[in-house]
Amino acid sequence: MKYRAFAASLLTLILLTGCGDPAQEADSAPASADLFAMDTYMNLKAYGKDASAAVKEAEERIRTLEQTLSVTDSQSDLYAINHADGAAVRVSADTAAILETAERIGQNTNGALCISLYPVLRTWGFTTGEYRVPDASEIENLLQFCDDRLISHEGDSVTIPKETELDLGAVAKGYTGDAVTEIFKQHGITSAIINLGGNVQALGKKPDGSTWTVGVTDPFSPDQLLGTLPADNQAVITSGNYERYFTDDGGNRYWHILDPETGAPADNGLAAVTVIGECGVECDALSTALFVMGTDAAADYWRQNGGFEMLLVTTDGEVCLTEGLEQKFQPKRELQSRVIRHDETN
Ligand code: ADP
Ligand code: MG
Repeated sequence: MKYRAFAASLLTLILLTGCGDPAQEADSAPASADLFAMDTYMNLKAYGKDASAAVKEAEERIRTLEQTLSVTDSQSDLYAINHADGAAVRVSADTAAILETAERIGQNTNGALCISLYPVLRTWGFTTGEYRVPDASEIENLLQFCDDRLISHEGDSVTIPKETELDLGAVAKGYTGDAVTEIFKQHGITSAIINLGGNVQALGKKPDGSTWTVGVTDPFSPDQLLGTLPADNQAVITSGNYERYFTDDGGNRYWHILDPETGAPADNGLAAVTVIGECGVECDALSTALFVMGTDAAADYWRQNGGFEMLLVTTDGEVCLTEGLEQKFQPKRELQSRVIRHDETN
């Protein structure tokens, strides 16, 4: 069988610079960096006196995190965990912190976020690009060991069963965005925008004092915007069925976010989920989990937990916004939309 593969490239979310006050912008020195890390194109831009040093340190931090969290690098924490044959492994504070968030959100979402799906991702070819559609029995065999409750984790010690393997693809970029934000703050930067391949994190305001604006990709035409959202010291993080996928000869599309219940691409009525909140790693974890859960379960989760806003795009093309975004989302084309409110049920 021949497959056509697609991976969304640079800037799945486009930053709109808008028109600021040129005099004020000239006052602050911008520093920026473009890099390819964690399998994606990244762009960092910071304004202020110490911006060059801040961006340089951020780049180094990204490289270190990439090494620590990579599933393929034989020096990484993840590699050590996955190849320990069931023994305990000591991990860095970064790995321990990410695991803690992933395990917590995995639990809260009844396993929709599942960082132990690596063997299933591999059999579909999402880890290598050698795509195939595995048969049901093969998936079923592998799924026995894909359960985050099998992870035993205390402090910096992590143990998983011999057959289990972890992958932090759903959360690593969000955590990295938080780490870069932290470095920028330490350098006194009050205006920066961090784009980690569609995961955008805004620090402070634009140099002209206006709010950063982030584009939300149209999942049906990924080179176009569905609309824009303001980001005020917030992360804007999207998971979608258009980000990385392949199609078979029959035109069926298979994407990289799997439903841990079935081991197949999650197909619960959503084409894309954007989560907006203060904490990048949580938004990243949630964007993946809520994509798996579908509209109604995502709305229930939001009503029960709060602490973030979300924009869901259904496979029918409807946009569902939580009420905090009602006045903030600026559509770029005519859209059928509805608002998800706190004081209602599905
Ligand atoms: P992206 O990496 O495109 O920004 P996500 O944050 O949604 O998108 O992460 C998707 C990645 O997470 C996949 O490439 C895979 O490595 C991993 N993954 C797939 N399905 C799940 C799942 N249900 N739970 C946790 N991780 C997953
Ligand atoms: Mg994610």
